[in-house]
Amino acid sequence: MESASSMLSPGETTLLALDPVIASTSSDLVGDLTYGQLSRSTLVTLSTPNVMDLPAVADEATHSISYTLSRTQAVIVEYVRDDKTDLFQVGRSSEKPIDFVVMDTAGAPPPTQGSSAGQSTISRFACRLLVTRRDAGDNPEKPVQACVFAAGFNSESNIFLGEKATKWQENNNMDGLTTNGILLMHPDGEFVSGNAKAGKWREVSVDGNIFSLREARSSSRRGEEQRDEANVLMDGSLIDLCGATLLWRSSEGLQQSPTQRHVERMIKIVNAGKPQCPVGLNTLVLPRHNSGVPNQLMYVYLQCGHVQGRHDWGFVAGANERQCPMCFVIGAVTKLEMGLEPAFYVDFEPPTHAFNPCGHMASEKTVKYWAFIPFPHGPSGYRAMCPFCAISLEGYPGFTKLIFQDNID
Ligand SMILES: [Zn+2]
Ligand SMILES: [Zn+2]
Repeated sequence: MESASSMLSPGETTLLALDPVIASTSSDLVGDLTYGQLSRSTLVTLSTPNVMDLPAVADEATHSISYTLSRTQAVIVEYVRDDKTDLFQVGRSSEKPIDFVVMDTAGAPPPTQGSSAGQSTISRFACRLLVTRRDAGDNPEKPVQACVFAAGFNSESNIFLGEKATKWQENNNMDGLTTNGILLMHPDGEFVSGNAKAGKWREVSVDGNIFSLREARSSSRRGEEQRDEANVLMDGSLIDLCGATLLWRSSEGLQQSPTQRHVERMIKIVNAGKPQCPVGLNTLVLPRHNSGVPNQLMYVYLQCGHVQGRHDWGFVAGANERQCPMCFVIGAVTKLEMGLEPAFYVDFEPPTHAFNPCGHMASEKTVKYWAFIPFPHGPSGYRAMCPFCAISLEGYPGFTKLIFQDNID
């Protein structure tokens, strides 16, 4: 893991002060930082207008957050190392301090007027997770705790909140928000079992406090502080980076969830029923990895849910719709594909439902759970989306119950 010499003891730091966070280094991660108990924040009056010249900021080994109050005043909060937690950072940057590099979701609209669609809305150093370590002597059954904070340390181990950033001081603690913000939603209920509902979206600050959402995603006024809520992640918590959303699964939750093998077994069970195309009467095959033989692929009529093969029956002239030969309902048709990421499943049931319009299949409870999660979209809107491909769902309720013609002999 690490050598003792790579760790700082709390006494070694802190010329400037304060909110000690604590860092230690593990072999594959950059700086594993944790928050220790809080001491005081220090207001620095700058003789030079450049906060970069301060020793704690210039020193790469020292992690610090600079809150610039004016051209001549800044508060620098310095963090020190600890061997109880690990820091993991998430962002768009491919530089070393980022452990999980994320890309934008295609088609994400700009959160503010004036920013162009080509410009990413995800910060290069978007957020950081502090995860408690399981020490050798610890009970291995003890769940680890993970907390999320807005903003990540850059390659110089700094976070800067400039003059224009939303920030404030309370009880001697500095805090602030990043430009597009990091939003957090805990499920209301247990993710595993599928009986949970969407919770409320909140914003998490740089210091890990929870606020109601701003009026618009990047407006300068913070929401109201939610003192009885925390930034501790639960199984199924969602972290929205503005352009990509992360799903947090705890190891305890994943142990009670389907695996890749289970998903593949479900594909085999669908195929074992020898589903037939009611028009061509040929046997259809659900492919394992979104490939497959064209003439055996399954298509669903999204209005009625009838599953059929590829055939020429029921084209509607001048429209992108087809008439179902089973029930004569007219609507869109799409290819069926198994949703392959097991962490998105809330139970072990077979894939009886599919999202509209993409045709990704999953269990009924999985599809219903995701179809009713409102994902932040644009400056202040929401949308429902398929977790497997991030396409916006269409129609109400945004999914279809599949009707197979199978198990007929
Ligand atoms: Zn039909
Ligand atoms: Zn999809």
